[in-house]
Amino acid sequence: MPWCETCNRFYNPRSLAPDGTCTTCGRFIADPADDTDDTKIPWHFWVLVAALVLYLGWRLVEVVIWLITGDWP
Ligand SMILES: [Zn+2]
Repeated sequence: MPWCETCNRFYNPRSLAPDGTCTTCGRFIADPADDTDDTKIPWHFWVLVAALVLYLGWRLVEVVIWLITGDWP
């Protein structure tokens, strides 16, 4: 958690100026580029997305088969 000694308060990294300085006194507090952990998408999210894509892809195949053959599996 970034801390401004001049203003005696904690900052949310996103509430800092884009260059990582305090918006109140202009003191450099933290490098915004270091704040990657909060915004990083967790790996299990992509597992869910992959599973969803595979599932929807299979449903699409079923619909195409149904449209061609006329019988629902
Ligand atoms: Zn400050």
